[in-house]
Amino acid sequence: MDPIPTAAGADARRAEVRPTPEQYFMLLAVATRERAACLGRHVGAVLVADQRIIATGYNGTPTGFPNCDEGGCHRCANPADYAPGRGYDVCICVHAEQNAILQAAKLGYSVHGAHLYTTLRPCFGCLKEAYQAGVTRVRYLNDWTPADPGEAETYAELLAEAARHGLTVEPLELPETLLDLR
Ligand SMILES: [Zn+2]
Ligand SMILES: [Zn+2]
Repeated sequence: MDPIPTAAGADARRAEVRPTPEQYFMLLAVATRERAACLGRHVGAVLVADQRIIATGYNGTPTGFPNCDEGGCHRCANPADYAPGRGYDVCICVHAEQNAILQAAKLGYSVHGAHLYTTLRPCFGCLKEAYQAGVTRVRYLNDWTPADPGEAETYAELLAEAARHGLTVEPLELPETLLDLR
């Protein structure tokens, strides 16, 4: 059994691991990801405007629909029925980044000039939607690129075009010491 944490131990841990503001938002994206019920890769996203969190999102079926892991999404439940990387237009799951942007829309918060922290580099759809909603900065924890070489090229072009219009997409690392759960 682990020893009971002491106040002195907790104080020492605090001194060591205070996250930067960006690391703090990414840590929240990691925590948000834990709520995902999608059979696919779990992703969490946090939208920040003026250093304030305006919305969070994780991937899964629309509100009130049966969860993906309860059979709510045919595409996610039956990947063998679809060619690899295909059929995403009939996937009912909403991506984490889309959910964050749509939650802001639903609640009436402007995304114009907002920053997006996400645990996975946004897919083609989420990236163009984030740009169109006015997001100016994306920071991601884990890399993602389309598996298909042609699609990867189109994705790289989208990144370059978005950068020319003021949207930067860059990785953000989280040192392991920040994930100390004591
Ligand atoms: Zn799903
Ligand atoms: Zn996406």
